Amino acid sequence: MPQSAEEIHQLARSRTDAPDLGFVEWPAFPWAVDGGRIVAKELDPPADHDRVRDGEGGVDCWRCEHPDEGVVWRNERWILSTDREGRGGLLTLWLQTREHMDFGDMGEDLAAEFGRLTLRLHNAMLALPNAGRVHLGKWGDGSAHLHVLAMVRPARLPQVIGSFAVEWDDLLPPVPEDVWQREVDEVAVVMATGDAV
Ligand SMILES: [Zn+2]
Repeated sequence: MPQSAEEIHQLARSRTDAPDLGFVEWPAFPWAVDGGRIVAKELDPPADHDRVRDGEGGVDCWRCEHPDEGVVWRNERWILSTDREGRGGLLTLWLQTREHMDFGDMGEDLAAEFGRLTLRLHNAMLALPNAGRVHLGKWGDGSAHLHVLAMVRPARLPQVIGSFAVEWDDLLPPVPEDVWQREVDEVAVVMATGDAV
């Protein structure tokens, strides 16, 4: 995100490969094309069961089986991870517990630390050059292992705003690797500040 809005715009304009639009095939994607016009899909009838997440009950959990994958900061109870592969044009990081649990299972002491770390993470990302806002997301529909998304959206790109920033993350070209690494390092340094571990 140290890239300016102008640099992101130029990168997007000069892109020669098409963005991966695989997500339009997902059942959750709410729009369809009908006669050349975009229309809202009808709501499908209820399923028999709710979606079974990866790692439900701690069984076959990707994060538990890959405790170090993409980790850029950790203490005794938490990890912060990121992944450039398959990511879009915005910096995204994931705050997770080391121990397998769902969000609601934290308990008040761990939740208090979650609050402090989330504030530290938010402010570290907002301090990056050209950061317009930091978005936080707790959906939890993919993996059962507690994970909260933090995403920087750049300043001065009027379309990349609110929940639409998540869509634009898929559409914008990836941040150059050296820029991405620098911004990840900057956030990791701030996360380590004041940490006893
Ligand atoms: Zn797990």
